[in-house]
Amino acid sequence: MGSLEQNAPAGRGMGVETVAGILREEIPIANNLTPGAAVMDGSQQQNSGVNHHHEVSVMAAAGNGLKKRVTIPLPLEVGTRVLCRWRDGKLHPVKVIERRKLNSGPDDYQYYVHYNEFNRRLDEWVKLDQLELESVEADADEKVEDKAGGLKMTRHQKRKIEETHAEEGHEDFDAASLREHEEFTKVKNISKIELGRYEIDTWYFSPFPPEYSDCSKLFFCEFCLSFVKRKEQLARHMRKCDLKHPPGDEIYRQGSLSMFEVDGKKNKIYGQNLCYLAKLFLDHKTLYYDVDLFLFYILCECDDRGCHMVGYFSKEKHSEEGYNLACILTLPPYQRKGYGKFLIAFSYELSKKEGKVGTPERPLSDLGLLSYRGYWTRILLDILKKHRGNVSIKELSDMTAIKTEDVITTLQTLELIQYRKGQHVICADPKLLERHLKAAGRGGLDVDASKLIWTPYKEQGG
Ligand SMILES: [Zn+2]
Repeated sequence: MGSLEQNAPAGRGMGVETVAGILREEIPIANNLTPGAAVMDGSQQQNSGVNHHHEVSVMAAAGNGLKKRVTIPLPLEVGTRVLCRWRDGKLHPVKVIERRKLNSGPDDYQYYVHYNEFNRRLDEWVKLDQLELESVEADADEKVEDKAGGLKMTRHQKRKIEETHAEEGHEDFDAASLREHEEFTKVKNISKIELGRYEIDTWYFSPFPPEYSDCSKLFFCEFCLSFVKRKEQLARHMRKCDLKHPPGDEIYRQGSLSMFEVDGKKNKIYGQNLCYLAKLFLDHKTLYYDVDLFLFYILCECDDRGCHMVGYFSKEKHSEEGYNLACILTLPPYQRKGYGKFLIAFSYELSKKEGKVGTPERPLSDLGLLSYRGYWTRILLDILKKHRGNVSIKELSDMTAIKTEDVITTLQTLELIQYRKGQHVICADPKLLERHLKAAGRGGLDVDASKLIWTPYKEQGG
């Protein structure tokens, strides 16, 4: 699996991302399209008709090597599959997810497209002239998806589906859950936020209440996480807001770093605001569940102005499946500084105090998976090195609170394990260990377990 650290995608414009096996530079998206200037046209049935429809004739491949003239009705329907010219100058297959009409001419539509080969972070609005109309595919929407439409699943059912598909990415959603997912996450609405001293470009759709759908930037109070549409409103709020840190107990302090535990039941609004905020940077996570059932662990950098949120993870108060982490996020300005690994390490320290093994809820985001793989590799291989391989999988799991399945998968990926006579055997060649450890990069910030002042959650008052 090579050098994860170097290949890890980071905030926009900083890292590289593996796309279909190729390393591709991530460049900031030119976002020169103001949502306010256009009318969203989600209800295509309503508008598909008489007045607004035009068509173009193009030459398309006819399958027998010849070209034939075909007519493509405009505007393109949502669901159309076509090639689109990306910023690398090349054509890539996309699916039209949404369209909107500009105020000018009847053919003047913009299309929100998803690139099949790329992460949804790169979904964007494009103009008609970026689309290669000759390549429009005839049967736009899959029938499977249509049949499954309207099917609502509980969180548990959804989780079951996700569990049966191990790999991260779109493959792990079946048609129904993908459909539901797309309903909620199609078009990025808020493109920027202000939080503390940072202005941050967002990555994904987040389901803010309808009254926020007319603005593309939101201003957050960095302490209570309430959000408003205008800078003046935020200034007014900051004069009144008396919080200087997350509304919970400080359970860890190490230098200028602090961790706060926030109970979603006692701080509902904070929990909900955090979910809205986090969804802007997380894909594939349903954040629409009840915050009552969760604890939020907020990592902060503290100075004389207060405790500034760096990232967080959430954890179910009671997880039947043994999850010790539900969502994890490091905010973009703080990425690639080792905070993600710190949060992961922290979640395992909590599990150790509980006397349990834990595993993160699936699916993990692309960034989450990379962080976990790096963390597992480093922790497990350090122990193997120390014990010269004389340690069992069960012992590895007991020492680290990492679930045995995750131990096995990690060692299998690194080809450090063999299945012989019905059991797993670890083969820890020192040279191989050293090579993998080097590739996994440095661990970043360590958690000092002696500084954790915490007792596991217990329901209060019977
Ligand atoms: Zn506030």
